[in-house]
Amino acid sequence: DGPLLDVRGLTVEYATARGSALAVDRVGFTLDRGEFLGIVGESGCGKSTLLFGIAQLLSPPASTTAGSVLFKGRDLVGMTDRQLADVRWSELSVVMQSAMNALNPVTTIGAQFRDVLRAHSFDTDIGTRSREVMELVGVDPVHLDSYPHQLSGGMRQRAMIAMALLFTPDLVIMDEPTSALDVVAQRSLMVQIKQLQRELGFAIIFVTHDMSLVSHFSDRLIVMYGGQIAELGATRTVFDTPRHPYSKGLLDAFPSIHGPRVPLLGIPGSPPDLADLPTGCRFAARCPQAMPSCAATAPELYQVEQVRVRCLLHAHEEVTA
Ligand code: SF4
Ligand code: MG
Repeated sequence: DGPLLDVRGLTVEYATARGSALAVDRVGFTLDRGEFLGIVGESGCGKSTLLFGIAQLLSPPASTTAGSVLFKGRDLVGMTDRQLADVRWSELSVVMQSAMNALNPVTTIGAQFRDVLRAHSFDTDIGTRSREVMELVGVDPVHLDSYPHQLSGGMRQRAMIAMALLFTPDLVIMDEPTSALDVVAQRSLMVQIKQLQRELGFAIIFVTHDMSLVSHFSDRLIVMYGGQIAELGATRTVFDTPRHPYSKGLLDAFPSIHGPRVPLLGIPGSPPDLADLPTGCRFAARCPQAMPSCAATAPELYQVEQVRVRCLLHAHEEVTA
């Protein structure tokens, strides 16, 4: 049967005045049906670009320069816009960071749902289906007549998720969908997303800068740094035994989902310039465990038990693809 999604060597570059920026560098992973994958890292590490690359929603100056995204066996890289439009919403939906930006401000929510449904030849029972998905996400269907600005931030995000679920897709990709909300609203939306996933069985790729936010919900985690996978493994394992010094730093930065948020005090400095990457380990300039070899040698992704780690501390382990 194979995995739902099989991303292989995906590489996304941005053309900049200073040359090419390598925002996503040979990223590979698989996702099973119904699985919840979290992608974490600071901003500027390529998380959103990776999502856009997976969904093939990139536009200039960004483009996919290598790799493939096999979704149900078909490569999304190289599909025509027409072919991608057929897949989008019906089989794969994307929920953006800000529904305020993703939703059309001058059209009611209901009219936007109708446009999506009609674009996929869903012409009858549009009202019924629209009300159903609003109820699924816990928003009163009367708000189908509302304009986006008339809803609270939390309701807007829910309406965006409702729209993503119109066709009960196999995969929903979410880019920091809760980041504009307060902690309580954030937590309640996460619980609801997880519940919808259990009921409807779709797989989720969920991007966030806050590792503790996804820790209770995701099956596996990818920690991204400098456009690469720094660590990939079961959420529990990465959380209990973070092996990459960057993963450790991220965990220190957000000690608890209920505790106060302290922005990355564990890791002074900022991510590398993707247009001017260092020769060796991309984390070397900030790494509390850096060794002399780290500045010169770029680490591979090493297999450590069930986890993959890009760090020379594990260079005695087998190299993974
Ligand atoms: Fe730190 Fe070296 Fe590992 Fe990079 S390779 S994360 S600098 S110890
Ligand atoms: Mg982002």
